[in-house]
Parts: sequence; C-alpha cells; structure tokens
Amino acid sequence: MIQTVILLCVLCALIATFVLRESARRLNLSALSSSVPEEFVGIYDADAYRRSQEYTKQATRLGSIEDGFGTVILCLCLATGVFGLLDRFVVGLNLSPLATGLVYLGVVTLVADLVLATPFSIYSTFVLEERFGFNRTTGKTFFLDKCKGYLITAILGGGLASLIILFFNAMGPAGWVPAWIGIALVTIGVMYFAPSIILPLFNTFTPLEDPELKAAIEDLAQQYAFTLEGIFVMDGSRRSSRGNAFFTGLGSRKRIALFDTLINTMTTEEIVAVLAHEIGHWKKRHIVKSIMLEMLKTGLLLFLFSCILESPVFFQAFGIATPSVAAGLIVFGIIYQPVILLLSFLSNALSRKHEFEADALSAEATRHPQALIDALKRLSVDNLSNLTPHWFYVMLNASHPPVLERIQRLRSMI
Ligand SMILES: [Zn+2]
Repeated sequence: MIQTVILLCVLCALIATFVLRESARRLNLSALSSSVPEEFVGIYDADAYRRSQEYTKQATRLGSIEDGFGTVILCLCLATGVFGLLDRFVVGLNLSPLATGLVYLGVVTLVADLVLATPFSIYSTFVLEERFGFNRTTGKTFFLDKCKGYLITAILGGGLASLIILFFNAMGPAGWVPAWIGIALVTIGVMYFAPSIILPLFNTFTPLEDPELKAAIEDLAQQYAFTLEGIFVMDGSRRSSRGNAFFTGLGSRKRIALFDTLINTMTTEEIVAVLAHEIGHWKKRHIVKSIMLEMLKTGLLLFLFSCILESPVFFQAFGIATPSVAAGLIVFGIIYQPVILLLSFLSNALSRKHEFEADALSAEATRHPQALIDALKRLSVDNLSNLTPHWFYVMLNASHPPVLERIQRLRSMI
C-alpha cells in the first residue's frame, strides 16, 4: 500500500515539475513584445527583430515537446514497472555485482539517450538551427560527436559508477564518504586535464597568430596576474556560426580559447572585453566557489542516496524486488528531480550574480565599459537571443542575466 502511495507521489511530483517548467516557457513567450528595445534600435530592424522572436518561439516549442515527451515516457516506465523488469533481466545474467550494476546503468543511460535526447538534438541541429542559419554540423561530425560522447561517458561515467557501487557494496551506507572523496578527485582531475585531453577530441585548437590581438590579451592577462598556458583559436565554425570565448583548465594549465567565429565578427577591443569578463570569473574566484558548491551538493546527494538505499520500500514502489546500488542510482535520480529543479533556482541566482561581477571587473580592467556593451549587443544579435525574457523564466533557467540588465549596469559605470 505504502509503495503505491510513494509511486503516486513521485508521478505527481514529476508532472508538477513539468507544469512549472512549461508555465515558465509560456510566460516567456507572452513577454515577447514586437517593439525593438531602445538599446537595439538601429541595430535590429523590424524584420530582423521579428526573426529573432520567431527563433525564440520555435526553440521554446521544441523544448516543450521534448520536455513533455520525456515526462510522459518516464511516468509510463514508472507506472508499468519497466525499471523492475530490466533489473530482473540483468540480475538473471548472473554477472558479478559490479558488472550487473554497470550493465543496468549502461542500458538505462543508452536507451534514455537514444529515445529521449538524440531525436531532439538531430531535429534541433539539422532543422531548427539550419532554418535560422546557425548550423554548420555535418551528419558525419554529428555521428562522430555522438560516438566520442558515448566513449567518454563509458569511461568517466562508468568509472564513477564503479566507485559508487564498490564503496557502497563494501561499506554499506557509510560508503558515501569515500565515494564522495573519489568523485571529488576525479572531477578535479578531469578539469585539470580537459583542455589537453578531452577538448581536442572534439575541436582543433591552434595557437592564436594575430599579433595585435595576442598582445592585447597578454597585456590583459598580465594585469590580472593570470598565468596562462596559451591562447588558442578553436574551430567552432565546424559546428555552428555562433561565437564564444572561454578559458579552461586549472592552475598553470589554464588556456584561453577563442572561437574562430568570434574572431571573424568582433573587433579586438570587443574580444578583449569578453576575455576580461572571462578572466574576471577567475579573479573573483567564481570557478573555485562553483566547484566547492558542486562538491557540497554531491556530498549531500550521496548522503541522501545512502538513506534511500536503506529503504527497500522505495525500490518496491518502482517494481524492483531487491535493492541494489545501481538500481538505487536510477530510483534516486528520479525521486530527486524535483529537488534538483528547486536547487537550480539557487544555483542560477548565484551564477547571475557572478555574471554581473565579472562584467564589472571587465569594465574596470579595460576602463572601457562600452566595449563590453558592444560585444554583448553583437553576441545577442548574432545568436538571436531573446532580449525580453520573463522574470520567472530567468529565475528558473537563466545562468546569465537578461542582456538589457547587463547593459544597464555597464552604462552606469561609464
Ligand atoms: Zn560569464
């Protein structure tokens, strides 16, 4: 009886979180206004602005369909006991506990990706992004990206899952502490080696040659006392016409990467302003703070996970007869979706605060806030960004503040 109540509660919570996300999307669409915001008058003509709003509408519609489809499939799987059936099948293979767990997680991850994510990402890349002139991905690149993504998931995800399974099997609920330490170490290792091992699997990085731009960036790095392994140009145009710039790596392995698309569309001053913003994140210790916060979250989730493992009733509610660590990870992942949604309000708020701080630091370092304003405008227009998002949508989804708010704050610094 209690199992049925738990199942019904979980189904209701999943539907409620979908309704919340869908409401945010609808409010966002209702906030689209046909008049071009004053800041963008002269940059956008009426037709181009209408096109940017059409992009927001179509992308939102696709998001709604994907989210709705995912929620329906998940609820159906829960109601019909699919996770329990799969568990019985995998246990019947008579493998070792670790192999049983990895096969179970592997099947669920692969099927979820193939059914719930891939069809939508194909449509988004080759239909939606293509229609609005963003797509540069060929079928071959898309396919190879998928294969490499699976390989990395198998190695890293499989490795982390093995850690969790082995520790919990050996130590029972107390396994959350060494599992937490293990995950923390792997995460830091990945961040350290990502620039030289993982990223080059997807893109080609060539050292920046433009002497004027290079000198301007080196000046900036010196001003910040930002030690740098190198400045690289990334062939972002291989997949999309969108521009970006970022830095990766930790300690002395930090690298700055500029998308070739950005170099082709922005002035040196604008690129330096964008990089000053990125380095501002580092200077203000946003990266360290975010990593620490993620670690705390992981620790809390692992602890809660250890509590679920001790409660067979949660497994029975999903039709799983014998609790196991691997099945527990799936059960836990589903039960905590609503909690993760609520946590995202907090993490997005923190991230938006960081963005304002990095903007301020960029304006201070370049002593030229107008350069970042121009860069933000250019990025918004090139990416057909929604200039007037609804505040509730921003709270729920946005890691960056609305561009008009960022421009307004930068203006106050001129
Ligand atoms: Zn930023």
